[in-house]
Amino acid sequence: MSTGVVVALDVGGTGMKCALVRPDGTVHHEERHPTLAARGPEAVTENIVAIAAGLAGRARADGLEPVAVGVAVPGVVDEENGVAVWSSNVGFRDVPLRSLLEERLGLPAALGHDVRVGGIAEARLGAGKGERHVLFAAIGTGIAAALVVNGVGYHGTHGAAGELGHIIVRPGGTPCPCGQNGCLEAIASARAIGARYAELSGSPGATAFDVVSRIDSDETARQVWHEAVDALADGMITAQALFDVGVLVLGGGLAEAGATLLTPLAEEMGKRVTFHRMPKIVKAALGDTAGCKGAALLALDHLEHTA
Ligand SMILES: [Zn+2]
Repeated sequence: MSTGVVVALDVGGTGMKCALVRPDGTVHHEERHPTLAARGPEAVTENIVAIAAGLAGRARADGLEPVAVGVAVPGVVDEENGVAVWSSNVGFRDVPLRSLLEERLGLPAALGHDVRVGGIAEARLGAGKGERHVLFAAIGTGIAAALVVNGVGYHGTHGAAGELGHIIVRPGGTPCPCGQNGCLEAIASARAIGARYAELSGSPGATAFDVVSRIDSDETARQVWHEAVDALADGMITAQALFDVGVLVLGGGLAEAGATLLTPLAEEMGKRVTFHRMPKIVKAALGDTAGCKGAALLALDHLEHTA
């Protein structure tokens, strides 16, 4: 029998990362496509199925056997039933993606939440390897997290677990698009950091990257960064009180700041520790391939369970 690979897609608001992933998590082939979310959820769904079918064909042409399909999507995901329940940036409303993929490709499929599968990949193959209790936090445009225990992501009753970005850390504070005020995401996401700096410094269009690169030379940048790290420490210590993980893996665009983020965050969390045990705090190791690799791992888990 030829070697098995998993067709894996990580669907984001603007782009899709797609790959053929071997069972050990290594990548045989990678490609990227635009999501074209503006064309509407039906067109996006059709696009996902067509790209997955194309990848399965590519695997066969390379002498490999596609054994399963794993797709990661943002928003609320019902993993058990394989339904993309809701997504603000792609527009999904109760799309039965798993059955659509299974029908068209004739392969078993699994649907996962993008951050949760990223967490699975980091926990099993990346920065959380060797730890049984891992919290993966993706800090980018938004903030979300995934609790992974013994390599399995916790999704909650409604597939909505891990919304770390909507822990309220500053009651009555900055309005959040979710409708609350003072959510962690409204203060410490890359988008919020950029917006806060733009407001205080009078430089419209400023980004979190600008803040990080000006920390040594600009008092306002330093202040905005400190506010964000402070809020993150409040959010993360709450998460640690709930989950008591061994390692906190930081991913997403903001984690690219490296020690500029990790060092003061660990320091601020340390100040808040009472009964808690501090987790190790590390930067994610798999970069933007974590979603694809995690989607593949989820599909392989699904195969095992249905075998
Ligand atoms: Zn919120």
